[in-house]
Amino acid sequence: MPSRLITSIILQTLETNVRFAQNLTDFVAGVQNIHKAEARRETERATSAAGNVGAAQDPGKFVFRFGGGTADGSAGMRELLGGKGANLAEMCNLGLPVPPGFTITTDVCSAFYAHGRNFPEGLETQVKGALAFIGKTVGAKFGDAENPLLVSVRSGARASMPGMMDTVLNLGLNDATVEALSVKSGDRRFAYDSYRRFIQMYSDVVLGVPHHVFEDILENYKKLQGFERDTDMSAADWQTVIGKYKDAVETELGQAFPQDIHQQLWGAIGAVFSSWNTPRAATYRRLQNIPDEWGTAVNVQAMVFGNLGTTSATGVAFTRNPSTGENQLYGEFLVNAQGEDVVAGIRTPQNITEAARIAAGSDEPSLEALMPDTFAEFRAVCNRLEAHYRDMQDIEFTIQEGKLWLLQTRSGKRTLPASLKIGVEMAEAGVISREEAVARIDPLQLDQLLHPTIDPDAEKTVIAVGLAASPGAACGEIVFDPDEAAKLKSEGRTVILVRSETSPDDINGMDAAAGILTSRGGMTSHAAVVARGWGRPCISGASSVRIDYAKGEMTAGGHTLKAGDIITIDGSTGEVILGEAKVRQPEVTGDFAKLMGWADGMRRMKIRANAETPRDAAQAREFGAEGIGLCRTEHMFFEGERIVAMREMIMAGDEAGRRTALAKILPMQRQDFVELFEIMAGFPVTIRLLDPPLHEFLPHDDAEIAEMAVATGIDAGKLKARVAQLTESNPMLGHRGCRLAITYPEIAEMQARAIFEAAIETGAKTGQTVALEIMVPLVAMKTELDILRDRIVKVANDVAAEKGVRPQYQIGTMIELPRAALQAGKIAETAEFFSFGTNDLTQTAFGLSRDDAASFLGQYTAKGVLKHDPFVTLDQEGVGELVAIAAERGRSTRPKIKLGICGEHGGDPASIAFCEGLGLDYVSCSPYRVPVARLAAAQATLSARK
Ligand code: PEP
Ligand code: MG
Repeated sequence: MPSRLITSIILQTLETNVRFAQNLTDFVAGVQNIHKAEARRETERATSAAGNVGAAQDPGKFVFRFGGGTADGSAGMRELLGGKGANLAEMCNLGLPVPPGFTITTDVCSAFYAHGRNFPEGLETQVKGALAFIGKTVGAKFGDAENPLLVSVRSGARASMPGMMDTVLNLGLNDATVEALSVKSGDRRFAYDSYRRFIQMYSDVVLGVPHHVFEDILENYKKLQGFERDTDMSAADWQTVIGKYKDAVETELGQAFPQDIHQQLWGAIGAVFSSWNTPRAATYRRLQNIPDEWGTAVNVQAMVFGNLGTTSATGVAFTRNPSTGENQLYGEFLVNAQGEDVVAGIRTPQNITEAARIAAGSDEPSLEALMPDTFAEFRAVCNRLEAHYRDMQDIEFTIQEGKLWLLQTRSGKRTLPASLKIGVEMAEAGVISREEAVARIDPLQLDQLLHPTIDPDAEKTVIAVGLAASPGAACGEIVFDPDEAAKLKSEGRTVILVRSETSPDDINGMDAAAGILTSRGGMTSHAAVVARGWGRPCISGASSVRIDYAKGEMTAGGHTLKAGDIITIDGSTGEVILGEAKVRQPEVTGDFAKLMGWADGMRRMKIRANAETPRDAAQAREFGAEGIGLCRTEHMFFEGERIVAMREMIMAGDEAGRRTALAKILPMQRQDFVELFEIMAGFPVTIRLLDPPLHEFLPHDDAEIAEMAVATGIDAGKLKARVAQLTESNPMLGHRGCRLAITYPEIAEMQARAIFEAAIETGAKTGQTVALEIMVPLVAMKTELDILRDRIVKVANDVAAEKGVRPQYQIGTMIELPRAALQAGKIAETAEFFSFGTNDLTQTAFGLSRDDAASFLGQYTAKGVLKHDPFVTLDQEGVGELVAIAAERGRSTRPKIKLGICGEHGGDPASIAFCEGLGLDYVSCSPYRVPVARLAAAQATLSARK
């Protein structure tokens, strides 16, 4: 069970192949940086005014120091110092024990890229000064032959990107300083072990020599000597291996491993900056919406050693349980060890607290039992940090010979249930306000609770149990390969990614998977951390699952399963279940319900749902929808007898024939509406008249046509001819929307009659007035709406006369064409409401087919042509301008015109914030998005108030 601290170290040493070419380029650039420094300065002097943003803004300060009880920076400076750097500074300011160091700013990263991966002028001098400061603080000197200072070089972006960028530890070691370290520590074996780790890590991260080269050398050596474990190696053994490592570097690169510690340092700094732009980091940023321009800072810090004997240790802790949110210190540590020991499978991390050890049934002593004084100090630090940041903290620490050192603190990633619990508890304890509690929850994360869980009464065959690393149930086909997972997902298949463990290079496949199962790794492993962050169900460390990648199969609980076989994983219990298990629909209860209640009290906009079936409508109500914003009536025509009658209508040769067929549909439509109105119990219901082109209701291939011919008795040839007649080159811009109702008014009349009759029937049944809105789709001109309004009003009058009851209703339109947006002022003379159909509006504004764009949109976002898929997140600049124009022009004609949105964007938090800005009355989204929209709307109101 590697800890995340350890995992992040592991991640540096894995999957080197992808990075190899990049690193080699970076190394060459790094070496060039040093050798060409002088020549470059001249050029930079000339260009800095034009391009060096950082230097231009603050030419004096590239480097911020911390340590010895003071710091240049603070927590508020995360944009410049990155999260890690800002928090290291803050901890120093709080007087906490932090190894001294310095942060090179993110501005330098921008300048580095702006200048062809060269460092800005003046940086070298500042780094030199800062190194001297560290040396002075710890009483050592970089490169000193008696008392050498060793440093770590780590990345640290504004937003945390676990394991995505590079780290180098033990930097400053060479053939001379290793001897000094040996004397100073009094532990020769430790010194040479550190040196070989450094050569391995530096060669991999900076020089691009694949990690396996070193693994192979070590394995061969151990085999020859008859050693089983690294701990069998003596100092002399490590010395021999180091010689072989150095030879290997020379063979791979044609040059010796650098002995010049300054060259080492600049190589590492360049490598960390360069690691901002590796493909895996770029992919992670894209998935997490982290802007490419942010860049990373670099933190150089005095090394402290967790492997200096049994009074030393290293670990990671959360101030509360990141999975459940329980207010208990939670974490893992290793005594006298470094991360690689865990990878080798020699060590299992121990629990930090006694309570956790007992709960885990572990025999390995806890930190609390092993080092009670240091533990007490650590617990006090944790409490202090949580109180200071007013949030759950994720803390990395090292204990060197009994002395506690803090290496990092940050707000800890957590599951949604943990977020909710922590937010509610902190608000109720008065640590944060309710508004802060609401603002802290990522609305998209709510998705985690809005998906099915395994029914507790379900019959299930549990074939393995691992760690409940990220909650939720997922069921799908087993896939062992991340690329295959991505491919199958693109084919519309649902997959569970099964791996021994994951690494940052797997994130494409992890993103594609409905759930992730690993046979190794702990609660803080890469798979667990990433899955929790994304709200993806995950089981880690299911050690009884044996995976054979070569055969494409896994065995568990006596079953052998192949790729493609179905399993269900329960990320809330850790159970791996054979086949598809029965699942239960989610409910909004407990902390979730409480926080949503708070959010509801804060938001201005109403939330409606797009729903047409009673099941969806009921689910939407369950999730708190306050009405239906879009009932797509065409969905009601596909089932059972309806499609038969619909086809009969389409095939009819004249109006009379169509009316006969429509008369068969009328009672079914009426019944649909009655059910919806009853479920919505007085909340508004917007019903849209038929929208799609008629050919969508006809079969297309010969077999289906033959089947329909038999079912309806209509000649197959006639059917084919009608299909051909209705075929359009561009159906999305064809005979659809209000154009259908204008050419076949009897369809709209039947629908209007069904709606009015249903409203009257429901009113009579329930005593509640139905808040009815009839919506006309794809209007481009006021005239279209005028014609249809007259028809609908006439039907209303007819029905009122027949039933003796006058239905209450409004007639409005969708705004989903640019012309309609521009003509909104005129259209509002007739329309009592607008609903922005931003799916079609995006399609028509961009001239981008909804059906065909997927083939290249991915490339557009990957290449940065578009920041987001405009069908997911509203293009505020263009499509958004059309929405704003329509809202303004509509209001200028009809000041109280009701405005809402019913395109997919109605469930997207960023788009919801935009709608708040325009003062829309409501957003409407799919039922499962309703809680997301409720929270996002509350957050939008809160930020609009600021
Ligand atoms: C729209 O175009 O945004 C809309 C909601 O309608 P549909 O997706 O049904 O075309
Ligand atoms: Mg539309």
